[in-house]
Amino acid sequence: MVNGGSRVLYNSAIALSVACAGAAAVRYLPTIPWDSWPQLALFSALTIYLHARTVKVENRMNYSLGTAVFFPVLYIYGVGAAMIVTTLAAVVDSVAHKKTVDRMLFNAAQLSLSAVVCGTVYGRLGGTFGYAVSLADIWPLLIAGFVYIVINVSLVVSLSAMALGRAVRSRLRGLLRTMDKDFSAGFWGVVFTLFVAEYSTWGIILLGMVFAQFSRFIEMGVKMSVERGMRQELERELLIDSKTGVYNFRYLTEWLADPAVDPTAVLFIDIDDFKAFNDRHGHAAGDEALITLANLIKSVIRADDAVIRYGGEEFVVLLPNMTRAGAKRVARRIQTSLKNVRFPRRDQSLTVSIGIAACPEDTKDKHHLLGLADQAMYEAKRSGKDCCHSWGESAVVHSV
Ligand code: GH3
Ligand code: MG
Ligand code: MG
Repeated sequence: MVNGGSRVLYNSAIALSVACAGAAAVRYLPTIPWDSWPQLALFSALTIYLHARTVKVENRMNYSLGTAVFFPVLYIYGVGAAMIVTTLAAVVDSVAHKKTVDRMLFNAAQLSLSAVVCGTVYGRLGGTFGYAVSLADIWPLLIAGFVYIVINVSLVVSLSAMALGRAVRSRLRGLLRTMDKDFSAGFWGVVFTLFVAEYSTWGIILLGMVFAQFSRFIEMGVKMSVERGMRQELERELLIDSKTGVYNFRYLTEWLADPAVDPTAVLFIDIDDFKAFNDRHGHAAGDEALITLANLIKSVIRADDAVIRYGGEEFVVLLPNMTRAGAKRVARRIQTSLKNVRFPRRDQSLTVSIGIAACPEDTKDKHHLLGLADQAMYEAKRSGKDCCHSWGESAVVHSV
């Protein structure tokens, strides 16, 4: 993932972050209030739980309440304690989401450094630390929280820039898109801080359980939406012909089964003398020709129209809200475009016969409509092929 000169930069960035975090650790770790170890143990357990529960779907849709736990630790037990808990979070996160060791080190370092900056900003703004935190500190709490999230995102984006080069823009876009989630987790962190300041250990237990339950709901929601997406993709694939990429017969069956009868014109297209084409150029060339024809039909119809591979070398085109006259124009366009297709070999060429029927002009029954288009197609074959024929009309329009 990391290549060339950017690898040196990437490794240097990680080394620098770890060195800074190490220096900060020397300064802040002695300030940890060890007599509060039961509370810190509770926060650590909650951090592990919440980070292990985070569902990652590519780079989006991941939502962690980890930040919500980080703020009370920082404001009530100090920067040193926050560094310990965030390092733990980075380790759990890298194990749960299979991140590399260098990513883990960087995450631990950047979270620790963010803790130092956030704690310093909070102190400078006149915020109080420990159980004395109250609503009077709301502005320092909110501003320092904002600074924490911005620093965090900036550090992650900088590292991505070094590691991934050009991909940084999409990464940045992704991060900005999910930043509202970071802010909402930060907001809950402020709420958690005030709650713990008021109710100490019981505050941690009660709101911690609410967060744990909440993160389960989020996990379930994300998993359900991923599954729904996969199911929709699968259903879509079931309706697609694997050779040509247009709809398959199953799509037509569903259209026929739908009781709604809207004005629609139907084209029934059959390749002329395709058996001979196969015999002359081989089956593989025949397959290529089928794909070419399918793409050509797609290119001359509207977005709401549907091309269906009816059978071997037969296609049906559904043209909603189109009259027979409009359908005839589409059929002519297909036949004319086919004349201009450049096949791989000069002696290769393809023509089609097209039958046309329209609802409600010819019939209001969908099955009947399809049958009429099919019969019109046979009429076109009988008239010498390479032409189109509308049901109920005596004249056959030959392509030019
Ligand atoms: P006509 O003008 O009367 O339609 O003549 P035709 O030779 O096209 O006759 P018909 O429509 O009955 O031919 C079907 C041929 O299409 C038979 C088969 O070799 C060919 N075919 C059907 N499916 C495929 C396919 O998936 N790939 C290839 N290469 N050929 C196919
Ligand atoms: Mg046929
Ligand atoms: Mg044919």
